[in-house]
This record gives sequence, structure tokens and C-alpha cells, in this order.
Amino acid sequence: TTEVTRPVNGYYLLGVIGNPIAHSKSPAMHNAALLEAGVQGAYVPLHVEPENLQAAVMGMKAMNFRGFNVTIPHKVDILSYMDELDESARFIGAVNTVVIEHDRLIGYNTDGVGYVRSLKEEAVSTIEGMHVVVIGAGGAARGIVYALLLEQPQSLTILNRTAEKAEELAKDFKVLGNVNGYSIDSAEQVLAQADIVINTTSVGMHPHTDQTPVSIHHIPEGIVVSDLIYNPLETKLLTDSKHKNCIIHGGLGMFVYQGAIAFEHWLHVQAPVEAMRRAVLASFTS
Ligand code: NAP
Repeated sequence: TTEVTRPVNGYYLLGVIGNPIAHSKSPAMHNAALLEAGVQGAYVPLHVEPENLQAAVMGMKAMNFRGFNVTIPHKVDILSYMDELDESARFIGAVNTVVIEHDRLIGYNTDGVGYVRSLKEEAVSTIEGMHVVVIGAGGAARGIVYALLLEQPQSLTILNRTAEKAEELAKDFKVLGNVNGYSIDSAEQVLAQADIVINTTSVGMHPHTDQTPVSIHHIPEGIVVSDLIYNPLETKLLTDSKHKNCIIHGGLGMFVYQGAIAFEHWLHVQAPVEAMRRAVLASFTS
């Protein structure tokens, strides 16, 4: 491991900027990780209004923060304050993790890569050669499409209510592989060929837990079905898919692994993934 810069008196300052931020699970998860890894430091929630974004970023530099996460609504606007962008952030056009390295701000996007790491740890042995279907074409889908294409699937098909957004997303990532976008109306034909189906829409999220993004009749028996939603931990799409002998994968792992990869960028030590998962689960009930 490389030497970590900016231990102010041996103490690492970390945080997350967003608006709203009060309900973020990141502080509980990262403080548990620091404790478990034996690293002295603290991770704080920081409420930042859009008009104060630049001042907040400069403030963190001035106060010797080691780095921070970025969440809604700042993930795209923060790009203009970065001195350097990792390939992930450049392709996706959004930053969720910043490392402050000798006064330089380096932007990463760990959402998609975190998702894929979770999928591979928990549900599939490989993505290479598979027919993958992504439902939804919003911010979360962008990161996931990028990271999935790095795994060289046979095909990646994006289905979305607004067809143009699916087509545009596919066009943006064409250089990375075989990716196409269509209207959700094509679900029946497209899903018939699928090995892995991933819901990236908010359909099925609390409080609308009785909804599914596609008809369960179109999901083939025995494939892998994944949902980014983690509230509830098991969506109706996943419960119904389980009844069709599918391997199911929920959104908690993505949240934990995007955090784990950020933690590793900041501290250059292996993230204690299980302690992080336990901390997030505990914060649901507290
Ligand atoms: P977003 O940018 O607002 O995109 C929303 C997507 O959902 C769009 O494709 C939209 O389709 C579709 N959609 C919304 N309501 C719909 C409806 N009633 N019927 C059909 N499609 C609908 O949101 P996002 O940031 O990508 O987040 C999407 C989901 O991912 C959320 O549930 C979020 O909680 C989850 N997420 C999870 C994690 C994690 O760590 N597990 C991380 C990020 C996000 P149109 O284009 O047609 O509007």
C-alpha cells in the first residue's frame, strides 16, 4: 500500500456533501469502517446548498480533509472544481468520491464499479459473454452501464419509459461495447433473451412497494435479477423473480461497495465490507 497523505495529527477527516443529507447512511457506514480498520478519523454529514458548493469544496481543502463523498444534487456540478478526473468520472460525467491529494482534487465515480463488485461477490460468477438488460436510463443507470461494459457482456440492452433517454445513453457508451437502447415497450422480446436483468428505476421503492418496472411474466425462469433499490431490501420484482427460481440481488450491496471503493481510494487499506454492511443494516432499525 502507498503512503496516505494528509493525516492531520494522524487523524483523517472525511464526509459527504449533499442536500438533503440528514438521512444519509454513509456516516454510520464509514465511521464503522474506520473503527473496524483501526484508522483514526471521522466521517461527517455536510449539508451544502448549491450556491455554496465551491466555498464548501475550498473549505474542505483548507481544513485538510482527506476526501469526501458527493451526493444529490452536487454529483454533476462538482466536476468543474476537480483538478483531475478518473476515467470512471469522465465517462459517467458525475463524481461521487473526491480524494484531496496535496491540494489537488481528484474525482472518481465508484457507484457503477461498486455495483458490479457487489453483483460478482453476491450473484454471478461472470458478466463476460452474458446478455444483460438494464431497465431505466437515469443517473444510476449511467454508472452501471459504464461498469458493466468494462466486463465485456455479449450484449447490453437498456429499456426505458422514455425511449430517447435509453437511445442516448447507449450512444454515449457505444465505444465501450455492444450496447443498445429501446422503449420499455420492447420488454417482452428483449427480456426473453436475458441472462441478467437489472432494475435501475425507482419503481418499487418505498412507499410504492407493490409496483414492478416490468411484468413478471416477461422475466425468464432461473436467470439473475438485480434491483438497485435497497428500501425495501427485497422489492416485489425480486420476490416475484425468486418464485420463478431466479437468483436475486438487492441494492444494499451496491451502496456498501461504492463506499468500500471510496474508502480504499482515501486510505489505501482494504475496506472492512462486512462491518460496513452491518452498520448500514443497523441504521435501518435505529
Ligand atoms: P433518476 O436519474 O431520476 O432516474 C429515474 C429512472 O427511473 C428513469 O429511467 C425514469 O424513466 C425511471 N422511472 C421513474 N419513475 C418511473 C415510472 N413510474 N415508470 C417507469 N419508469 C420510471 O434516478 P436515479 O438517480 O437513476 O435512481 C434510480 C434508482 O436507483 C432509485 O430507486 C435509487 O434509490 C436507486 N439507487 C440506488 C443506489 C444504491 O447504492 N443501491 C445508488 C443510486 C441509486 P424516465 O426516463 O422515463 O423518466
